[in-house]
Amino acid sequence: ERNIRVLGGMSAESTAIYYKLFNDEVRRRLGGLHSAELLIRSIDFAPVAAMQAEGQWEDAGALLARHALSLERAGAGLIVLATNTMHKIVGHITAAVSVPVVHIADATARALVAQGHRRPGLMATRFTMEDDFYIGRLREGFGLAPIVPDAADRALTHAIIYDELCQGIVRDTSRKTYEGIARRIADAGADSLILGCTEVGLLLDAGNVPVPVFDTVALHVQAALDLAMSP
Ligand code: GLU
Repeated sequence: ERNIRVLGGMSAESTAIYYKLFNDEVRRRLGGLHSAELLIRSIDFAPVAAMQAEGQWEDAGALLARHALSLERAGAGLIVLATNTMHKIVGHITAAVSVPVVHIADATARALVAQGHRRPGLMATRFTMEDDFYIGRLREGFGLAPIVPDAADRALTHAIIYDELCQGIVRDTSRKTYEGIARRIADAGADSLILGCTEVGLLLDAGNVPVPVFDTVALHVQAALDLAMSP
């Protein structure tokens, strides 16, 4: 069994969900009083978010690579980078460490493909919805045809993530806004919806979205445990 090391804090709100799901899932798999053997390195999100906003991705990549290296030295068997957006610089991390880094988009894409979906909607930060590192990977790696919201809905989706969800603010009005965006993506032909930011599950789930929902946090946790527990 491999030790799981989580690089989190981006944001802390979703890292708390990772912690809960890792423990729930280990209990479900092993039963009784079992819980997850975990080490979580939770960093301050403000400087990272500032680098994102300024486009300083090289600096952000170098910073996270340093943290990943210290996790590897602390005995990591595998690393979980607990954010979709920062997978933009996952190459910096995989270049710095020799242990596997469980890719959140791959975990999500495999689940979509396994369930026969091809045109997933994607709600995420604007970096994840607009840059190629994520949708390109879904397209080229898995033959998926992702659908993103229109420009106005992308701006709304992004703003609610940073101004509210990452700050622990969960509003009914924003839930309604997200439900409307999800409905419009489904109307545009999406056969499923990727909750492509680790905080989006605070507002959307299978109960208020008209198509099957794929939550990247849950799928990332499953993929990490599958790898950690494989012989
Ligand atoms: N947690 C979010 C994500 O999954 C956004 C915050 C971040 O930029 O890390 O993309």
